[in-house]
Amino acid sequence: MTKPKVLISGASVAGPALAYFLHRSGYDVTVVERAPLVRDSGYAVDFRGAAFEVLAEMAILDEIRGHDTKMRGTTLVDDSGTEIGQLPTESFAGELEVPKSALTRILHEITADDVEYIFGDSITALAPTGSDIAVEFERGAAGKFDLVFGADGVHSNVRRLAFGPAVGELRHLGMSGTGFTTANYLGLDRQGLLQSGQGTAVYLFSTQDSDRLTVSLSFATVSPEWDRCSRAEQEQAVRTAFAGQGWEVPRLLDAMADAEDFYFGSSCQVHLDAWSRGRVALVGDAGYCAAPTSGMGTSQALIGARTLAHHLVETTGDHEYAFTAYETELRPYVTDNQMKGYRAAATFGAAAQAASTQPDY
Ligand SMILES: Cc1cc2nc3c(=O)[nH]c(=O)nc-3n(C[C@H](O)[C@H](O)[C@H](O)COP(=O)(O)OP(=O)(O)OC[C@H]3O[C@@H](n4cnc5c(N)ncnc54)[C@H](O)[C@@H]3O)c2cc1C
Repeated sequence: MTKPKVLISGASVAGPALAYFLHRSGYDVTVVERAPLVRDSGYAVDFRGAAFEVLAEMAILDEIRGHDTKMRGTTLVDDSGTEIGQLPTESFAGELEVPKSALTRILHEITADDVEYIFGDSITALAPTGSDIAVEFERGAAGKFDLVFGADGVHSNVRRLAFGPAVGELRHLGMSGTGFTTANYLGLDRQGLLQSGQGTAVYLFSTQDSDRLTVSLSFATVSPEWDRCSRAEQEQAVRTAFAGQGWEVPRLLDAMADAEDFYFGSSCQVHLDAWSRGRVALVGDAGYCAAPTSGMGTSQALIGARTLAHHLVETTGDHEYAFTAYETELRPYVTDNQMKGYRAAATFGAAAQAASTQPDY
């Protein structure tokens, strides 16, 4: 019997995890990733609940534990920098926190010999033919696949191609912000500092690289379009939101201008009536992003990948049945995570609360 041939878009968390489980069950797997190399994202991600079972099933739990950032908690400070409280480690670092780059690299390593990885490319067209899907790429030769999976994140390319460009699936949670690193001039040692005001938050921490300070400057906004602006405009939005603030803020704003690893993003969720169309299914943030404020995105991506693969194997490739079973099993968990992501964003500041009246979950 010929092996089912599948294509996965995205080689971060959900993509390689799905590749691992499908290859193990006899699938012929190709992964296409837009980035030229395995991604080296600067921030840390954490694991909670059943995600540990998924890591153990992939036999990488011990290796992942070896990258524990060993964060020691976060100090809450007021606008003059005076300590006003402590947050336990778990609030930001879950049950285990590692640099995202370590997770992505390990997932790539355990699949690289068995799965074909194509870096620096992207799908441009998906055309169902009845018995398979014809796929075109930006650079590579066109091909035919039995199934295609979108594991390409909150702004998923596969979702746009398979579901249409504007199905209103992105829900902005009323906060945007920047992340970057600078010299660890505060001497933080696996510790965080959080200053949260009316509609702004400064979060500073240092983990394994003790020379670097990771800076996150978030602000309440009802304008998701900041994500599509130039870096100069994004920086200006941050400066406007933090204008007149004291403590470390002026110095951090100066450091933002010099940062080589400047990142800007909005807290968004993905809400879809269905996670699949025909022979295409979505997994991880692409299908049901719960927003970084949920602290559940990485766990959800791993659990989603295993659940999807499990149902495909259980139904011996009856993809329609498998996709329905996958969604039925996972949706309550996702809804709960999305509620957590919403609540965390809504407690962030008065403006954010006003911007996002409680939606249906
Ligand atoms: C600043 C920040 C902090 C976060 N903190 C946490 C945390 O503490 N805990 C936690 O659990 N989660 C956290 N998250 C969320 C977490 O990173 C995601 O939920 C998780 O990575 C989802 O994995 P994924 O594989 O579904 O998507 P992603 O990790 O987003 O990966 C998508 C992949 O698809 C690729 N791609 C995109 N477009 C294309 C294309 N056209 N063709 C091919 N490939 C493409 C991308 O390059 C990327 O490699 C955070 C996110 C951010 C932004």
